[in-house]
Amino acid sequence: MPFSQRGRVWDDGFVKVIHLSGSALSIALVLHFSSFLLARAEHPEEVPVNVVVENGPPEIQKMAHDIVAETAWRFQQASGVAVGKMPIHVVFVDTVDTGENIRTDSGRVQGVTIYNPETSSCTVQIPLRKSSSFGRVLAHEVTHAFVREAYGRVINRTLNEGLAEYMASLEFPSEVRHDLQRARGSGLMLVLRPYVDGQQFCQDHATDPHFGSFLASEFKTSHLTYSQLSKAWKEQFPE
Ligand SMILES: [Zn+2]
Repeated sequence: MPFSQRGRVWDDGFVKVIHLSGSALSIALVLHFSSFLLARAEHPEEVPVNVVVENGPPEIQKMAHDIVAETAWRFQQASGVAVGKMPIHVVFVDTVDTGENIRTDSGRVQGVTIYNPETSSCTVQIPLRKSSSFGRVLAHEVTHAFVREAYGRVINRTLNEGLAEYMASLEFPSEVRHDLQRARGSGLMLVLRPYVDGQQFCQDHATDPHFGSFLASEFKTSHLTYSQLSKAWKEQFPE
């Protein structure tokens, strides 16, 4: 068990060293600033987001807040829908919840986003034992929260996972590229197809000004494969 060991060196992403002692969690950080800060340098605007990071040291809370704000900005650019009002709680956990029937994602990135209808808020759980950086997982998961805020309950899993992967790829390109390449060659391709197909579709169309209206209509459909989505796109926006 990685977290019973003191000072275990972990990951090659944002978080290098994890130390869990009893119930008190402390995270020693060695930060890789490269891809995230380069991406942020493209624009100075800050999107206000209603996010609380529930544990972790101040450095990691600040970084998590910045990733949520960055993803909100990119989500707005692609969808044309303003987000950031819905309360989002980010919590770093040893293991994500598996017993919640309202969970909306248990994807390959191994985070989870849980919508609470009573409070109209989302909890994003980020597992600390993931091999990817927490930032890459957080960017993916918080996209699901923004989808929920912008469109309500959605049906189209390929578009949901694909948009989450696409958003994460804008901030953490090498990590997402690596994950998608691994997915394509794996025996789990059938399970992972929504991520691969969806990301490819979003990459192809997300900068098109029609993309937002396509999301609004197609999130409620069950057009799941890349070719089904492409066909729906051509029907809505014939050249
Ligand atoms: Zn997901």
